[in-house]
Amino acid sequence: MPAPKPSLSDIERGISRYERGDRPWRQTLNRVDWFIVHNEQLYPLKYTFALATDVPVADYTTDQMKAAMSHLNLTYHSLKAHLDNIQDFDAQVKRSLADDAGRASRLATASTIPKLTYTFHLTFQRNPDVVAEVLLRANGHCECCKARSPFLRDSDGSPYLEVHHVIFLAEGGNDTVANAEALCPNCHRRKHHGRNSQ
Ligand SMILES: [Zn+2]
Ligand SMILES: [Zn+2]
Repeated sequence: MPAPKPSLSDIERGISRYERGDRPWRQTLNRVDWFIVHNEQLYPLKYTFALATDVPVADYTTDQMKAAMSHLNLTYHSLKAHLDNIQDFDAQVKRSLADDAGRASRLATASTIPKLTYTFHLTFQRNPDVVAEVLLRANGHCECCKARSPFLRDSDGSPYLEVHHVIFLAEGGNDTVANAEALCPNCHRRKHHGRNSQ
C-alpha cells in the first residue's frame, strides 16, 4: 500500500503532537537521519509523518514518506553526511596513531594554516529551569565525585559545573530535575566517553 499523502495541516498536527510528547511508537533518536525543518527546529521525519497520518513509524521507509510529502515543499535535513565526516576524522586519528613513520613525514610537510569547515550538531532544546534547579541542588559540588567545582565562571564567578542527563535525552530520557545531575567536566566527559582506567 502506498503511503498516505498528508496535507500541510496534517504535518503541522504531527509536529504539534510530537512537541506534546505524543510517542505511540518506540523511538530511538540515535538512529534518526532525516528531519523535517520547521520554524528552524528539527523534527524526526519518520516519526512526524507517522503522527501526522496515524500510521506506525515502521510501515514505510523514509523515501516512501518523502515521496508522499513531495507536494508539500518541505525542507529536510540529513545528519548522516555530517556524522560520517566526524567518524571519518576519528578513523584518521586511529590510522595516524598506528603509523609513526608516515605521521612524522606528513607532519614535516603539513600545511600550518587550518582549513575551515563547519560542523552540524544535533541538540535538544533544554529547559533552563531544570538546569538552574540542578545547579542550585549541587551547590557548587560535582554530584558524581562530590569535589568542589574546579573553577569559577569568568562571566559571573559562579562555580563551573555541567548539567548532564542521567538517561540521555537521545535515549528517551526526560528533561527533568530528577533525570539530571551537575557534574565537573572530568566526570561529565567520563560519563559520555569513558570507563575507569584503574
Ligand atoms: Zn566530578
Ligand atoms: Zn552529558
